[in-house]
Amino acid sequence: MNDTFKHKGLRQKLVNVLINKGIVDKNVLKAIGNIPRHLFMDSGFLDHAYQDKAFPIAADQTISQPYTVAFQTELLQVNKGDKILEIGTGSGYQTAVLCELGAKVFSIERQQELFKKTSKFLPKLGYRAKKLVFGDGYKGLIEDAPFDGIIVTAGAPFVPKPLLSQLKVGGRLVIPVGDDIQVMTMFIRKGQKEFEQQEFGEFRFVPLLEDKN
Ligand code: SAH
Repeated sequence: MNDTFKHKGLRQKLVNVLINKGIVDKNVLKAIGNIPRHLFMDSGFLDHAYQDKAFPIAADQTISQPYTVAFQTELLQVNKGDKILEIGTGSGYQTAVLCELGAKVFSIERQQELFKKTSKFLPKLGYRAKKLVFGDGYKGLIEDAPFDGIIVTAGAPFVPKPLLSQLKVGGRLVIPVGDDIQVMTMFIRKGQKEFEQQEFGEFRFVPLLEDKN
């Protein structure tokens, strides 16, 4: 678990790349500048950790591209103390970004192997989510709802209704929607039954699968 000056320097370069690609939220950039992404990756990819790319992790899944993480987090507009639900814990990198922003993080992962690995790993780096859950994100987390924000980090073929209903009024759901290619979509809850919808271009994610594994 080594974080050197070299890593810190590479991280600062990555932050500059994200600024050039249009990320402006200072807190999001600071979080990415702080988190040792190389420690979230398998050893074979360590040299590539600070490239703006997605990489394979365990169980055929990926750690999302830093730009995608930054873009989604920026849309979510996290304030300190907000209750945020993440669907797709994966490596825990996005979870760490949310922790750095001072959110109370609830995160669900459907792959048991990743759930176990990441549950052990995050506290070692000092990142303490409120709750990490092994389960099916399509259902959300009814016992801890409502949330200020919900972020889905896998490609959803459709928008799961429970996620919309578990938002506070004023809350935001950021979700990539589509089968092979996804459109980044944000829903803002305006009232009990009213949602404003905005779209933000195409991304590619591993699929949001039903049921746990
Ligand atoms: N946020 C992660 C991204 C991992 S990729 C990171 O920063 O590394 C997406 C993750 O979503 C995978 O780990 C996958 O297993 C998980 N996933 C897919 N369908 C899911 C579902 N229905 N519920 C919860 N997690 C799911």
